Amino acid sequence: MDRSQQLRALPGIDRLLARCADLIAAHGRATVTDALRAAVDDARTAVLDGAPVPTPDDVIAAAAAHIDRRRPPRLQPVINATGVIVHTNLGRAPLADAARAAVLDATGYCDLEYDLASGRRGSRVGRLEPLLCDATGAPAALAVNNAAAALVLALAALAGGREVIVSRGELIEIGGSFRLPDIMGASGARLIEVGTTNRTRAGDYVAGDDPGAILTLHPSNYRIVGFVAQPTLTELAGIAARRGVPLIFDAGSGLLRPAGGALADEPAVSTALDDGADIVLCSGDKLLGGPQAGLLFGRRALIERCRRHPLARALRLDKLRIAALQATLELHLRDARHEVPVWAMLSADREALGRRVDRLVAMLTERGVPAEVVTVDGVPGGGAAPDATLPGPAARIVTDHPDALATRLRSERPPIVVRVADGTLVVDLRTVESSEDEEIVARLAAGHQDRHPDTQP
Ligand SMILES: *Cc1c(COP(=O)(O)O)cnc(C)c1O
Repeated sequence: MDRSQQLRALPGIDRLLARCADLIAAHGRATVTDALRAAVDDARTAVLDGAPVPTPDDVIAAAAAHIDRRRPPRLQPVINATGVIVHTNLGRAPLADAARAAVLDATGYCDLEYDLASGRRGSRVGRLEPLLCDATGAPAALAVNNAAAALVLALAALAGGREVIVSRGELIEIGGSFRLPDIMGASGARLIEVGTTNRTRAGDYVAGDDPGAILTLHPSNYRIVGFVAQPTLTELAGIAARRGVPLIFDAGSGLLRPAGGALADEPAVSTALDDGADIVLCSGDKLLGGPQAGLLFGRRALIERCRRHPLARALRLDKLRIAALQATLELHLRDARHEVPVWAMLSADREALGRRVDRLVAMLTERGVPAEVVTVDGVPGGGAAPDATLPGPAARIVTDHPDALATRLRSERPPIVVRVADGTLVVDLRTVESSEDEEIVARLAAGHQDRHPDTQP
């Protein structure tokens, strides 16, 4: 066959489509047609380069691979064995069972903005505000898309077009491209930087001639140590009052009331309000342990201005997250925080964790996987309490190929994400459901026999 005969021998799209019933059922006719065209084009180029004419099955396989490359896999559950509790890359806070059930209830029609008693329109915000206020002592509250949105809304509503005074020590970047100066720009407020990176004094906040607000932020994910100074919230509240502007405090992590232990240094919303902040902002999916959300707490007139700002409509929560947040807040209010996974993991009993780790190591050893108990520093994560550590037992897997093993654990279903540091692979059960321990053992043991005979004792 010469080249032109070969090209004519390439299978036609209609003939190929007739053999693709399964692919069409999975991805739709248009997608499969496009993929087949791309595969035939590739085959034509290859034939012109001297390659043999592919069979129809070859072309269909190439089309299927093309679709796989273009279709990102669905979100899938992951076993988090890193010990990082609020792991931003793994979806931050895992929801409580009650919150998951509430989400499911809200997936169909629900009374989101409907008053069942009167048959009239009801209030979407009214469902959350009393809970948010009771949980913190705030006079008024509002929930929006995330903490970044809460900040944009507060700045736009309370200081749009005017100056917002911020310490140079707090011009922060938080993971995922949250850069304070950029957020500020998006809100229409003008940034007035005061003080220096390490020291800002109360007197520095007299800068600016058209102030709309004073903003202070909790340095969630870093600490400036050494020769440092920053006025307290109470001092800033005094200055803001004298200048006749609100003090906005971005608390970050979403601790509603003060806690001890690893969170002793985290600012609580209730304390910040008592200290004189006019508006306090935080995330819903860090220490609060709920869905992604941004919460605003504070004086009624100010919250009302935020609520009436046009951006509030653009940043509002959908029914699924309202359901999850409501259920999570109810747990906090019922003193059932141990049912909120983030809190259960933060306060995991060291002895109980130790027994699980001992059992894991024993099961692994029995199945020929060398492992030992080590002490690790778990971390709250999510930019909360950067100094805090949660020392506890974990299992170190003895292997010469920690990265290869970690890659394999991620590539199978369900993916297991472990911690690899300094050439060692650690499985930290603090962030693992106890019902998943056996799965971890099975997966480590299976791969160990197949692929790491060199590391067997
Ligand atoms: C995490 C954090 C944010 C961003 O929160 P999102 O809910 O992810 O938008 C903002 N400010 C502070 C201080 C934070 O810690």
